[in-house]
Amino acid sequence: MTINSDTGQGKRKITILGATGSIGESTIDIILSHPELYQVVALTGGRNVKRLIEISKKLNPTFVALADESSLDDLKEGLSGLKIECDAGPEAILRAASLPCDMTISAIVGFAGLEPTLKALDACSILALANKESLVCAGELVTKKAAANSVTLLPMDSEHNAIYQALNGEKIAHVEKVILTASGGPFRAWEKNKIAAATAQDALKHPNWSMGAKITIDSATLMNKGLEIIEAHHLFPVKPDQLDVIVHPQSIIHGMVAFIDGAVLAELGTPDMRTPIAHCMAHPNRVSTSVKPLNLAEIGTLTFEKPDTEKFPMLKLALQALREGDVATNLLNAANEVAVEGFLKGHFGFYDMSTLVERTLEKGARQFCNSRGIHSFEQANEIDTFARKTALNLFKSAA
Ligand code: NAD
Ligand code: MG
Repeated sequence: MTINSDTGQGKRKITILGATGSIGESTIDIILSHPELYQVVALTGGRNVKRLIEISKKLNPTFVALADESSLDDLKEGLSGLKIECDAGPEAILRAASLPCDMTISAIVGFAGLEPTLKALDACSILALANKESLVCAGELVTKKAAANSVTLLPMDSEHNAIYQALNGEKIAHVEKVILTASGGPFRAWEKNKIAAATAQDALKHPNWSMGAKITIDSATLMNKGLEIIEAHHLFPVKPDQLDVIVHPQSIIHGMVAFIDGAVLAELGTPDMRTPIAHCMAHPNRVSTSVKPLNLAEIGTLTFEKPDTEKFPMLKLALQALREGDVATNLLNAANEVAVEGFLKGHFGFYDMSTLVERTLEKGARQFCNSRGIHSFEQANEIDTFARKTALNLFKSAA
């Protein structure tokens, strides 16, 4: 039996924003395992024109967009003779996001994913959100637009997907705590002075998950968990003090909900993004994946510890920004993107990243002290631009 599309007939029509990335590749793996269930409307990529051509040939979308305009001729040549329209540049990405479909997978990394996500909310009936930065930069704008357009927002991030599953059918009034697990990253057991000297190469060795470079660095600083707490705040209607983080190095439990009667519901599985991706793609059904079955007897022990915000100050900064609101979380995200890029290029040390974020938050708070929330993409963009410029200037003056 096939799962139906939202109209109850035929294949589910899917667009993948960020198809050449880690989430995009796992999504494609599921589509190729179930070709009878999905039809691809549009695919987008950033710079990797070769990979975008390869996957377009496999998935036969109607439209393909590449962010990098300088490779448009290569894209056209690679798709010549096929009935696939293509274009390049930021407007082309927005056009891909605007094509009507049943489900959009939002998997561009960073602030660059916000505008396409907002466009997709006018075009699809289900938005599966991997791009957590959309919610961190303009959470209220995104969730209000989804509600106004009756778009179902499905969390693809593994922790939020786990919590979404654990909350299924329960009343929010009965929730005591929403708990996100964190692997602790590659430096969990390192001394602070050793972490201070860590390189991007050290940080890119994530113990459990295979992901894009930016989120892997965010996992090493625990900023990823900070961004995820902010994401959870927008997805689940609980108060900030009902959101908790617990370090669980095995990454077997992905998220938990504690209820007022003492019951705790959790979602467990082998750490593989294809499980939460498949959960979203088949919603409200299930599809099979080739994820390794969970073997608890083989794993033996699951351990838990409190996060150490002295060693990982990014988590503390994110919690502080959450209490201050959307303007602060937008500033936090932009400064972090600058910091991560600098760290990946070897320009910053590990703790320079949190210093940069902290100083940008201070300067941004003075600049935008009268702003109450973020109500448009233009406003989100203005704050993001200010924060990036500020972070870069801070870096230059310190160098
Ligand atoms: P990635 O770097 O592997 O892929 C990012 C995708 O975005 C690529 O297709 C890239 O070409 C595209 N892109 C980058 N800059 C762009 C731009 N300016 N315009 C258009 N496209 C652009 O990243 P990823 O690990 O797949 O993560 C994607 C998103 O999903 C991030 O927001 C991340 O936080 C989130 N997420 C990822 C994972 C994971 O396991 N990888 C898990 C949870 C959440
Ligand atoms: Mg996650």
